[in-house]
Amino acid sequence: MLKIEQLYKTYIRAKEFNALDNINLDIESGEFIAIIGKSGSGKSTLLNIISGILTPTSGKIFLDNQEISSLSDDEKSFIRNDSMGFVPQSTVVLSTLNVLDNICLPFFLSKREGDPIGRGKYLLNELGLEHLESSYPRELSGGELRRVTIARALMNYPKIILADEPTSDLDVENTKEVLGILKEINKKNNTTIILVTHDLTCLDYADKVYTMISGKLVEGKSI
Ligand code: ADP
Ligand code: MG
Repeated sequence: MLKIEQLYKTYIRAKEFNALDNINLDIESGEFIAIIGKSGSGKSTLLNIISGILTPTSGKIFLDNQEISSLSDDEKSFIRNDSMGFVPQSTVVLSTLNVLDNICLPFFLSKREGDPIGRGKYLLNELGLEHLESSYPRELSGGELRRVTIARALMNYPKIILADEPTSDLDVENTKEVLGILKEINKKNNTTIILVTHDLTCLDYADKVYTMISGKLVEGKSI
């Protein structure tokens, strides 16, 4: 369902270097993929390119046989909001909106049919956040905030979830909880998941693991 061909991202700092160096990847619908790698190896760059936030230097990305890497910014934004759920590295939520409104936000960013509040409440329930519906982000713990960003990522029934270090600031207990929730979503809805992380706990949850080393992707655990 997601195919990546000869993907490069070149940055120029002191000299030119490839943050992504010929990435090729073929992901089946319903797979749970973990990409592990040290800080600075290119993991976020890869997710940001898949989601269309960054443009690759060269290479192609196909989502369900549609080449998405060559689309305009507007078209990419539409696909990102409509088909992808992004769980960012930091728990970015809008501090002036309550929990339910934060979760429903992706619905309001695209014109669509449906019942956002009903869907939002369903997700609150699924993620054990129902008692926090009217609370504001500043009143929540790190683990609760993370679950809000996962619920928000699920709002528009994504085909694929891209999670960037979703457990980075969590303790062991919350880490297991968040990974368990992602696994459950993956199994229940057949949602494809790409999780990038430097935390090896994910190995117990993913179907397949890759390691990113200086912009190159290798199969298996190599750190
Ligand atoms: P990771 O998520 O694995 O920690 P990143 O994808 O954030 O790694 O970064 C990969 C490499 O690209 C790092 O060396 C980083 O410093 C570099 N990098 C990221 N963004 C830029 C940029 N806009 N300009 C120059 N170098 C960048
Ligand atoms: Mg990163």
